[in-house]
Amino acid sequence: MSAKPRARNSGTDEPEAVVPRPAVALEDLPGVGGAIADKLREAGYTDLMELAVASPSDVAEAAEIGTATAQKIISEARRQADVGGFESGVILLERRQKLGRVSTGAKSLDDLLGGGVETQAITEFSGEFGTGKTQLAHQIAVNIQQPPEHGGLSSETVYIDTEATFRPERIVDMAKAVGLDPTEALGKIHIARAFNSNHQMLLVGKAQELARERPIRLIVVDSLTAHFRSEYMGRGELAPRQQFLNRHLHELLRFGTTFNAAIVVTNQVSSRPDILFGDPTRPIGGNIVAHAATYRIYLRKSKPPKRIARLIDSPNLPEGEAVISLTSEGIRE
Ligand code: ATP
Ligand code: MG
Repeated sequence: MSAKPRARNSGTDEPEAVVPRPAVALEDLPGVGGAIADKLREAGYTDLMELAVASPSDVAEAAEIGTATAQKIISEARRQADVGGFESGVILLERRQKLGRVSTGAKSLDDLLGGGVETQAITEFSGEFGTGKTQLAHQIAVNIQQPPEHGGLSSETVYIDTEATFRPERIVDMAKAVGLDPTEALGKIHIARAFNSNHQMLLVGKAQELARERPIRLIVVDSLTAHFRSEYMGRGELAPRQQFLNRHLHELLRFGTTFNAAIVVTNQVSSRPDILFGDPTRPIGGNIVAHAATYRIYLRKSKPPKRIARLIDSPNLPEGEAVISLTSEGIRE
């Protein structure tokens, strides 16, 4: 699963909006000759940061080298990219100050999240059908296009749609409502339909390619768990399901760290007991998702069009609730 096939021109590049990323010669790393560098680039490792946060076994497989050699290459990439060692609290604080935030459209929900959806972190929206998970994903993909003073990051979105519920018409409605040109807004959302869990995982690699050409600061996976859940049904398949889900989440986090991007995932709650949980109100994916997601918002229905969003399991924010409305113009307070 570590192969991250490259397709350089995916047809979406419009040069004027390209964000240049520093070109670092992988060949400068000790032990990396031209052939290895080519294989690494083919597998999607094109700069130091991506190598620095990769796992030795993935790099070994991609470059067809031993794990020990891969480890050395990664260590050197970490040293040069200045990641991976101990850091003082001051540096950590500085990095956190670079975090971007995107508005959800409802100030109450933004406040609950500490100021909006955060970059370099996974935010999960869970809840039963019709609670607004997909609407929120659409709204955030619109809002991120706005300048910071209007709750965005002047950036674009990769949208991985696993259930074919992405609706361009909703983007048009939401864009108009905040004064964005609807066609331009649609042009800044790059959608891929994931046909199965394996394809879904591969699309994160594709997203990395795109993020080198476009200013992508948000990756949406709607839904994170649906394919995994339907493909790995039996009790005996629980371990591989969780293993692949874990890997997927870490690749998403890696994307977030590399590009300082927000990661928004949706998750159904099980209407019948999940094999992991007897409790039918728990989001699917169990402790794997619980550990990987920094912010978990559980949505439930209230008097229409209202929904109640509850923050669960945050490391630095108090638990609490916000009321939001699903309107024709999008998510509102
Ligand atoms: P599922 O688990 O089935 O994917 P979900 O949580 O993603 O559900 P959404 O599709 O986000 O649910 O929410 C659907 C709800 O959004 C509708 O029930 C409706 O309340 C609201 N909605 C959708 N489109 C519009 C619209 N054009 N105008 C007003 N409200 C809308
Ligand atoms: Mg949905």
